[in-house]
Amino acid sequence: MVRSAAEELEKIMIIRSMFCVIGVLGILVSATCIAAEPAAWGAIQVSGNTVQPGTKGKYPVISERGFEASYLNMPVFVARGAKPGPTLCVTAGIHGDETNSVEVARRVFAETDATKLSGMLYMFPFVNADGFRNRKREMTDGRDLNRSFPGSENGSVASLVANFVFTDLTSRCTALVDLHTGSNLRSNYPQIRVDLENEAAKNLAVNFGVGMILGGGGPDGSLRGEIVKAGIPAIIYEAGGPLLFQEEEVARGAEGVRNVMHYLGMAEIPGYKTPHPKIYEKTRWVRVPRTHGGFFFPELTMGAKVEEGMRMGYVVDPGTDEVHVVTSPYAGQIIGMTLPQPVLSGYPLFHLGVE
Ligand SMILES: [Zn+2]
Repeated sequence: MVRSAAEELEKIMIIRSMFCVIGVLGILVSATCIAAEPAAWGAIQVSGNTVQPGTKGKYPVISERGFEASYLNMPVFVARGAKPGPTLCVTAGIHGDETNSVEVARRVFAETDATKLSGMLYMFPFVNADGFRNRKREMTDGRDLNRSFPGSENGSVASLVANFVFTDLTSRCTALVDLHTGSNLRSNYPQIRVDLENEAAKNLAVNFGVGMILGGGGPDGSLRGEIVKAGIPAIIYEAGGPLLFQEEEVARGAEGVRNVMHYLGMAEIPGYKTPHPKIYEKTRWVRVPRTHGGFFFPELTMGAKVEEGMRMGYVVDPGTDEVHVVTSPYAGQIIGMTLPQPVLSGYPLFHLGVE
């Protein structure tokens, strides 16, 4: 049975209060402690700006203008609801080439009416700001920001950005939705990634209500993985390919974030019904076999169901014209795939959800 959002939230607050107590005992009042003790609902401070209840705004996260400050030259979007409630945090553009995700965040924020909101919507719409401007997945220093959390105060640029974002989010969020798309010339079927063992996170995933759910804890250093360890339920939503504005994917992603806001009691969606999305507990990659690199041409489309041994596409060796047919070693559904491009041995071609 699915617990109500209110019960889930209560549980989250209890868990975070426990973190708080541990923090105080260790003479280290953790950031989560602050959020676990909600003060009377009122104005908050964001980067030196006062945000009043019932208002919203976009603010630069730092006012510094130094050479290195450019890496944090990004905005934070804040909608402070007129009424008290949870804080939903939304991050996008952690990978700078994942354009759809940024537009999902922008659109949800633009459509949010702070005068009717309960709680707070708190967004970093393009966390890897330099990467986003340059259309690059990685940070300025070449690192993958989504392997750099929780970061440190004395690390690389990626680590500094991760530390800033992580510290800020853990002090504010009740729940987190991290928005992504496929990367590196790969595309993803709309999907939510979540640790199915974490009940609160699983309920967020189910109530996102669009796309299918893939189980898994996420890699070390990812924002989702690390913030869940800090006691904040989190999900990733992935849709479409990099460097594109795909209207269907953007609209779906925005709908999912609004559904989560409804689930958390922040904004009402009339007639909302609890969704029952498909859940895959396991996924598998179909890769280029050893020495069969070449030009890849898929023959199936995203979302297609496959049987074991079914033909999925082929790789043609441009040096010899030899054709290698790609068949599926598993029965399942295509949830991610590589776009036509040159590929080498071991390169992932299809991502399958398997029963
Ligand atoms: Zn990504």
